[in-house]
Amino acid sequence: MFHVKQKNFDVVVVGAGHAGMEAAIVASNMGASTALITFSENDVGTMSCNPAMGGLGKGHLIREIDALGGVIGICSDLSGIQFRVLNKTRGEAVQGPRAQIDRNFYKKNAKELVFNSKLHLIFDEVTDIKTKKKGKDVIKSIVTSLNGEILCKSIIVTTGTFLSGLIYRGNEKWPAGRLGSEPSIKLAKFFNSRKFRIKRLKTGTPPRLFAESIDFKKCATQKGDFKPEPFSFLTNSIDIDQKNCHITYTNNKTHKIIKKNFGNSPIFNGSIESKGPRYCPSIEDKVKKFSDRDRHQIFLEPETIEGSVIYPNGISTSLPTKVQVEFLKTIKGLENVRVDKFGYAIEYDCIDSNEISQTFETKKVDGLFLAGQINGTTGYEEAAAQGMLAGINATLKISGKQSFIVKRSQGYLGVLSSDLCKGGLIEPYRMFTSRAEYRLFLRADNADERLTDLAIDLGTVSSERLKKWKMKKETIQKAKMLLSKLEGSPQIYNKFGLKINFDGKKRNAYEVLGFPNASWDLLTKIWPEIASLKIDHRTKKQIRANSFYERYSNRQLIEINELEKDKNILIRSDIDLTKCDGLSNEIKDIIISNSPKNIAEARQLPGMTPAAASILLRYVKK
Ligand code: FAD
Repeated sequence: MFHVKQKNFDVVVVGAGHAGMEAAIVASNMGASTALITFSENDVGTMSCNPAMGGLGKGHLIREIDALGGVIGICSDLSGIQFRVLNKTRGEAVQGPRAQIDRNFYKKNAKELVFNSKLHLIFDEVTDIKTKKKGKDVIKSIVTSLNGEILCKSIIVTTGTFLSGLIYRGNEKWPAGRLGSEPSIKLAKFFNSRKFRIKRLKTGTPPRLFAESIDFKKCATQKGDFKPEPFSFLTNSIDIDQKNCHITYTNNKTHKIIKKNFGNSPIFNGSIESKGPRYCPSIEDKVKKFSDRDRHQIFLEPETIEGSVIYPNGISTSLPTKVQVEFLKTIKGLENVRVDKFGYAIEYDCIDSNEISQTFETKKVDGLFLAGQINGTTGYEEAAAQGMLAGINATLKISGKQSFIVKRSQGYLGVLSSDLCKGGLIEPYRMFTSRAEYRLFLRADNADERLTDLAIDLGTVSSERLKKWKMKKETIQKAKMLLSKLEGSPQIYNKFGLKINFDGKKRNAYEVLGFPNASWDLLTKIWPEIASLKIDHRTKKQIRANSFYERYSNRQLIEINELEKDKNILIRSDIDLTKCDGLSNEIKDIIISNSPKNIAEARQLPGMTPAAASILLRYVKK
């Protein structure tokens, strides 16, 4: 992999993290000659922080990437050691598939996927990007430490937290891309020299603990789902043994130690000024902000299937090592804990995301694409989503084809890309279901229905996926057709135990399938011919959810139209937004500090969600 012979590629991807892998694999699957250049073999599929994938909003992204032919879902299914669907008691639209991942399996499986693809993997440092003038700056080549100049038509930079990365722990600080990795200093200079708007952001990670030093009997056990639900539409079942997680809490003693050491924390003593992810605060942040709380929850999550090292989710910290040990030992179950690696914070350069368009191409340099944490996001899933879209668009561009933009109404991928290109992020961006105005349409389970036909047209899916999707699509259509023809009166439904108003109205089986107490079994009792449809459990759930949500989606469209109609309604300067119920403090801060004149301006603010815009509209109209 050193000193490559080929010195000319269609697409070069810089960085083999989660954005880089998706970008390079999709570009190569679409037929572009592709090189993936990364510092070392150890980079491929490395999970820099928590050993988990998915969750609310993030799980939706994984399913959408998978529906387009991406690899994050497959790789997670091959590496997951505890699967749970979050929000299971609520509707499918806000349920999020999540899995605890064995980080070693993930790396191994990611490497296999990369090695089995046609791309060229090169271990080297990219130090510069060269452009030529064709009216505007156009990509010419990249420059590397060991292999010199490599010509290419487009470049996708996915360098994560590495650009001028600086790690902080107590009073120590040192340059690094993440713990144990060199930062990317030379490449950072390229963005400076081309006058890209650069921001500093930060993130952090907790200490890792030796499992044998933890008394799990003192902690609550959290089991995964009895029947694990895979991420990928290609995975039939999860065959890896599943592990338990455990739950414990901080307490007043822990908080006292942390408070006493605020002065030793780089986030409070002025060393770090940049913002971190609001929804993933450090324990120092939580103790300061929520000083009235007497405990904070900690999930003890195994990092691998052997479970010898534990990731304590909820106590990310950059306090000095001595203080980390001191506060850990006050926690139930951790009285004798030994630390494998200490927590730290990292501050890094990212590029203001209004430097990119919705295709992820920079506005300044033709053929230069940016994807992942470099655009100010946080999370593996957000990174992979951008990598996928940047990889597709870089390949379409060099083939002279029209770009591919997912609409907000088509997927969370569209929500992410349109939110990002607004720019102006003040803290790392992560996905939530509340960011999507069309969230009733955008369920995790129906990502294939929304996106796989588009992927087939783009040429991003394997023959296996194409065959599987065509069969599934036919099954869904056949089932809908048959069920729509079977009509029953309220008497019939009630006779079989389904409570329906005796209003004399006939309803078809498809409509009724989505009713709260209806089920496939119940309808099959009424119409035994339904049994002739051969449908697997997952597809049955999807068809039922389709029926349920079809009734609500009209209401959502009305709400969206209302917002559109009332976009010019003024927000008076004397209105007291702190009293607006339903708006989070984050959104209140955003609105108050930006003073938008009307609803349209408020909707454009970075971090503003469509749901919040609706609440604001109702409050302003009062
Ligand atoms: P990365 O996964 O960071 O990959 C970047 C790649 O680029 C690396 O392989 C690197 O070697 C390579 N590279 C960089 N510069 C060069 C160069 N010049 N030449 C060649 N190769 C280069 N996410 C969460 O969701 N929750 C968290 O709690 C969380 N906490 C985090 C804590 C820490 C300390 C860190 C470091 C990250 C954390 N993250 C967290 C973020 C998560 O790791 C990233 O969002 C995700 O990995 C970003 O993916 P990426 O592909 O953009 O970059």
